[in-house]
Amino acid sequence: MKAEIVSTGTELLLGETLNTSAHFLTGKLSALGIEVDYHTTVGDNPERLEQVLRQAIGRTDLLVTTGGLGPTVDDLTKELVAKVLDLKMELDPSSLEQIKKFFGRRKAPMPMNNEKQAYFPETSKILPNPIGTAPGAIIEKNGKTVIILPGPPFEMTPMYENYVYSELQKIMDPKVERMNERVLKVFGMGESAIEEVLADLMNLSNMSMSLLAKRAEMHIRLVARSSKKTSEEAGEVLNRAEKEIRLRLGDKVFGRDQETMIGIVGQLLKNQKLTIATAESCTGGLLGAGLTQEPGSSEFYVGGVVSYSNSVKQGLLGVSEESLSKYGAVSEVVAKEMAEGIRSQVGSDLGISTTGIAGPDGGSDQKPVGLVYVGLATPEGVQVEKIQFYGERESVRQLTVQAALNKVRM
Ligand code: ATP
Ligand code: MG
Repeated sequence: MKAEIVSTGTELLLGETLNTSAHFLTGKLSALGIEVDYHTTVGDNPERLEQVLRQAIGRTDLLVTTGGLGPTVDDLTKELVAKVLDLKMELDPSSLEQIKKFFGRRKAPMPMNNEKQAYFPETSKILPNPIGTAPGAIIEKNGKTVIILPGPPFEMTPMYENYVYSELQKIMDPKVERMNERVLKVFGMGESAIEEVLADLMNLSNMSMSLLAKRAEMHIRLVARSSKKTSEEAGEVLNRAEKEIRLRLGDKVFGRDQETMIGIVGQLLKNQKLTIATAESCTGGLLGAGLTQEPGSSEFYVGGVVSYSNSVKQGLLGVSEESLSKYGAVSEVVAKEMAEGIRSQVGSDLGISTTGIAGPDGGSDQKPVGLVYVGLATPEGVQVEKIQFYGERESVRQLTVQAALNKVRM
């Protein structure tokens, strides 16, 4: 099955908005074994949009559109799809109800314009929009399928997951090959080291493996192809490979698929009913920001100090003047005193500290750019790890956050 994505929105052509919807949808369709042949982006202009839709419907089996479902006169996707497919526009009373309810919840009257969002090409199957006012639609005609989705990614993505995915399953040929994917996430090991350890698994006939270097972690992507019928077997292939990789890389593998280092560490702290506080220098609050990323972080994160200057390290964390002048702010001793300092100041179970040289300036022969210390204070004492990272400022900062969290995980 061949597919094409048409993204509408003048903002996409002005360099204002990155077309993340096309990226998202292409990944999803490819994983299902649907070949995406074209991406077309077109502004909110009726003539050009009609031309693009006509061309797409002429050459593809599945057309997915995003955007142009708004209440204003320049939102014309549904109207033009109807025109190209020679269908009339029809009111869907239940969508109108939903839109009225949407405004009701906001205690605002529904503007007349919004009624337009309840009209669809006849024969449409309506895709409800749980977040916004623009429902989507699926239309099938002459063996072609058109899926119409709204523009804002935070509306489009849940609609894909909740409705479009299962609709695609229905219309797809069960023999079509699909990709079953699993991603294992690694910290503390580089690309070539991983490659060396996993060399013999790289080119198996029933599974492919690739390594992707992310800013502060490595991803091992496993793909096993299957038909709809053999997807369970493919799942088994992935399970066996995951087990083998975890055996070889040990605790360097910190998670898989949607799991994140922060999520894993947060869960760990929750499970063990431990609280943590942060004393940050070179990461300037990134660690605290990370720890508060997920809902429920108040269960384990107490707070922290961004101690960028020596005076704050001394004044708020109790780092000694002697240590600072003798060893410098980027040192094992200071990392230790920072971690101990924050732990005793706030009375948390754990204290973590970061201090390092993020660059590009400030490095020396003894303390090059990328030199970092992360400290972890626990009721049993303090451990400090010295790490030499390589990379530009933002990478060093992200890697430091990851290293600090990883220390908690271990
Ligand atoms: P809807 O169909 O939901 O009414 P619309 O086209 O009428 O969509 P707009 O107001 O044009 O909605 O866009 C809403 C927001 O979504 C804007 O911030 C826009 O930049 C963003 N957006 C639209 N299309 C995309 C896309 N393909 N990728 C990423 N962001 C997008
Ligand atoms: Mg738009």
